[in-house]
Amino acid sequence: MQIDHDKLARFTARIFTSAGATAPIAEEVADHLVTANLKGHDSHGVGMIPSYVANISNGHLRTDAHAEVIRDQGAVLMVDGGTGFGQVVGREAVDIALQRVKKTGVVSMGVRNCHHLGRIGAYGEQCGRAGYVSVHFVNVVGHEPQVSPFGGRDRRMTTNPFCCVVPRVDDEPLVLDMATSAIALGKVRVAHMKGEPVPEGVLVDHEGLPTRNPAVMYEEPFGALGPFGNHKGYGLAVMCELLGGGLAGEWTAQPEHERPGTIINHMLMLVLDPAAFGGLTGFQREVTEMVRYLQSTTPAKGFDRVRVPGEPEQESLTLRLAEGIPIDDRSWRGIRKAAGKAGLTEEEIEALIA
Ligand code: NAD
Repeated sequence: MQIDHDKLARFTARIFTSAGATAPIAEEVADHLVTANLKGHDSHGVGMIPSYVANISNGHLRTDAHAEVIRDQGAVLMVDGGTGFGQVVGREAVDIALQRVKKTGVVSMGVRNCHHLGRIGAYGEQCGRAGYVSVHFVNVVGHEPQVSPFGGRDRRMTTNPFCCVVPRVDDEPLVLDMATSAIALGKVRVAHMKGEPVPEGVLVDHEGLPTRNPAVMYEEPFGALGPFGNHKGYGLAVMCELLGGGLAGEWTAQPEHERPGTIINHMLMLVLDPAAFGGLTGFQREVTEMVRYLQSTTPAKGFDRVRVPGEPEQESLTLRLAEGIPIDDRSWRGIRKAAGKAGLTEEEIEALIA
């Protein structure tokens, strides 16, 4: 099916208010999820609703939690998310960092114990639009690991996202925002839902043999998702685990920590004020001219043109705002079922999506 983004956001927000969230919180979470869909990341969009509703009902996700500063040393801050919606506590943590960086020029912030932060680029974009550079190292715990280390067969980490954002004058920021696994786990889930194979070189089965079947991540005997870019992607994933998980969260994917089947993100975030370095003018000149230089490349065979990080998401946004958001049938059934579990009747659901 194809659905208009406003209608989908209203439906999503009603699911969360029905599950116990206040209207402003439900609307913020809905907006984040639908924006992920609009930007082409269905892996981190409304397809997450069933697991969020399940985590609210089993007490793993606290709908009323807000970002709490638990340590303040000027340019170094620690924030606890109290297992609240990552979309709310993550945005609040960035608000705090953006206030502080005006005075300190650089902020290093640990954000711990957030329920799923969703699309990490959202926090980078918040910094970029305010004129700041940001870097985000994130780990994912609370459930069994899914990603094997380079050279290994067993799962030891999760999809540990990394994000780096550079602001631009009169333009959207440059946004590198990615899972450090070969593809985001949510993309394996979407392929599984659609009954489609994943690209080659992404998954191995329980014997460590390459497979394109996404079911190995959801049905026994389990296989594993590999890191992107061999040892280099693996290395970056390790740094996300140790900086996001170890330094900020004090909770890495080791088996000694609990794994009750929820999704917890920890994030180490650096926010830099370009004005505190060489100054804004020279930096922006370099950014603008360098992007122009990159994009002036003759396209290689099979490519229409060269893009910079963040551009594919902008293109998807333009397209999906106009044409609506596609949702596969299996995911849609899962979302409707979750709406029912949250307390909406079939009539209410029909009225919301009509
Ligand atoms: P992706 O592979 O689609 O894109 C990764 C990056 O590459 C993006 O910055 C994109 O702009 C850039 N890119 C893509 N094509 C490009 C091109 N042709 N030219 C230049 N740049 C290009 O992203 P992904 O790895 O599938 O991650 C999807 C989302 O999943 C991200 O938003 C990430 O934050 C999120 N995620 C979240 C968690 C979590 O626990 N919260 C875990 C993993 C991933």
